[in-house]
Amino acid sequence: MAQLYYRYGAMNSGKSIEIIKVAHNYEEQGKSVILMTSALDTREERGTVASRVGLSRNAHVIEADSNCFDMVKSIDPDASCILIDEAQFLSKQHVLQLAKIVDELSIPVIAFGLKNDFQNNLFEGSQALLLYADKIEEMKTICWFCGRKAIMNLRFHDSKPVYEGEQIQVGGNESYYPVCRKHYFNPPMEQMGK
Ligand SMILES: [Zn+2]
Repeated sequence: MAQLYYRYGAMNSGKSIEIIKVAHNYEEQGKSVILMTSALDTREERGTVASRVGLSRNAHVIEADSNCFDMVKSIDPDASCILIDEAQFLSKQHVLQLAKIVDELSIPVIAFGLKNDFQNNLFEGSQALLLYADKIEEMKTICWFCGRKAIMNLRFHDSKPVYEGEQIQVGGNESYYPVCRKHYFNPPMEQMGK
């Protein structure tokens, strides 16, 4: 049975490299996969899944008005797996379309993304995936400042932590760090830049 998977993790938990790895494993067996990513990805060029270790792949771009179900039907309805990057930026409608791909086309869909935004609210895509996914899996990474598990993302602007602002900052000078709860509230600034 095909299933809808949601694999969430904080910043730098290796989501993009995992997508590239899973795609490679399928393709090595002669099976085709479809890579998709949100148009809202601000880190990289549009339409790429890029990992920090340097590997990257092209991906189909999901726009606000795209229908993921129709996209998959026209790209390759016989695909063995659909891999989604930046799934936190999807709308609830997009997530319902992913569920329809699983239920009606019997293709497994694995969506990767953040859970918490920088103010510890759910993104729309994260909320919908938590509600509709068959399997929810955490991808672990450690706090930027200590060895504990990172469960949050701290936004920095001009090297200062910020706790207010738009959920999605496009084109700004922001950076994000994976942090534990303690260091979300009290980041040891003397360690920054290390
Ligand atoms: Zn910490």
